[in-house]
Amino acid sequence: MRVNLERIQKDLEKLASFGGVEGGGVSRLAFTQEDKGARDYLQKALEGEGLQVMVDAFGNMRARRAGNKDLSPVMMGSHLDTVPQGGRFDGTVGVVVALEVIRVLNELWLKTARPVEVINFAVEESSRFGVGTLGSKVMCGHIPVEKLKTWKDQQGISLYEALQEFGLTPAALPAARVKPGEIYAFIETHIEQGRVLEAEKLPIGIVSSIAAPTRLKVFVRGRADHSGATPMNLREDALAAAAEIILGVERIASREAGEHTVGTVGYARVSPGAMNVIPGLVELGIDIRDINKESKDLAVKKVLALLENVAQKRRVRIEHEILANENPVALSPKIISALERSTQALGYPYKVMPSGAGHDAMYMAELTQVGMIFIPSKDGISHNPAEFSSWEDISRGAEVLLETVLKLANETD
Ligand SMILES: [Zn+2]
Repeated sequence: MRVNLERIQKDLEKLASFGGVEGGGVSRLAFTQEDKGARDYLQKALEGEGLQVMVDAFGNMRARRAGNKDLSPVMMGSHLDTVPQGGRFDGTVGVVVALEVIRVLNELWLKTARPVEVINFAVEESSRFGVGTLGSKVMCGHIPVEKLKTWKDQQGISLYEALQEFGLTPAALPAARVKPGEIYAFIETHIEQGRVLEAEKLPIGIVSSIAAPTRLKVFVRGRADHSGATPMNLREDALAAAAEIILGVERIASREAGEHTVGTVGYARVSPGAMNVIPGLVELGIDIRDINKESKDLAVKKVLALLENVAQKRRVRIEHEILANENPVALSPKIISALERSTQALGYPYKVMPSGAGHDAMYMAELTQVGMIFIPSKDGISHNPAEFSSWEDISRGAEVLLETVLKLANETD
């Protein structure tokens, strides 16, 4: 069964125009006008296929193609929101190929026993409110309504307010919850955002497990003194202390935790930030990930010990806040082998591999059996206008999705 590459290309190009930036990228933060444009486009396209779009209290969009039997649906999709100055493929690809699957099913008048659903998760990227994969967390019932008031964007607009402004009903959040068993299976197609598939010249990746992050915000407090009048032995230099932390995180992740552990200090905010003032305060953002919980916990423990060490040695105060501490997730062996069989039947070489990046799929795994299809990313670039995946690879991913969804949607026992 063939998917229509031109249709996929047209959808992706059209969606890239909502929030399009120079260099071919996209800035489409959650619940902005740009996001609205993309969502409306998707809604129209789904309605054009005869599907009704349901939007829950948090803005997750779901559309269902009926099955012959009264059974739980097979769901597929991803997210349409992006990071600022992001690419046109991250998330969007997974939504577009899901839409394409519906089109092919309709075109061929194919009936399935189970309904087939498309989903666009709201607020997958953490760029606007500091927290991500929220749509799926809401579906799992992990987000109390009150929490929505505490997460704010750079303009000080809370997520609660943003939802209201977007015409949604945050107070009704509990109604967006989905019970385990209500969805038969979920498959997310996504760009790899890494270099593995490209390096091994493989068009398809099948995800085995998803690495989860622990995120820390660290404040190093020293003393902002005159850079000329303060002798070296009297300094409490917050940036020099932060430098030890940065190198320590790198050392721990590369040598002292697990084989797959990665650790990143993604930002450092130095204040006062003047050339002639000893830095008095540095804020660091630390992100530690692993597909193995034990080795991630070990890395986090070592980083916390490092903070204490540096504080003592350098006479600075170090405080930390744990922003997220998520568990790595193993995806469904049954869906993995279904995806493998489809890929083999189509004759595409593939690899079963872990995902280093987080996705809504990891929360969906609490609700149902989950699988993920990876599409190669050129040079591994993502969250960047230069993000690129070839139309051919995307359509191969769509074919694997189509085959697998058809199979799952006809499972009746
Ligand atoms: Zn994504």
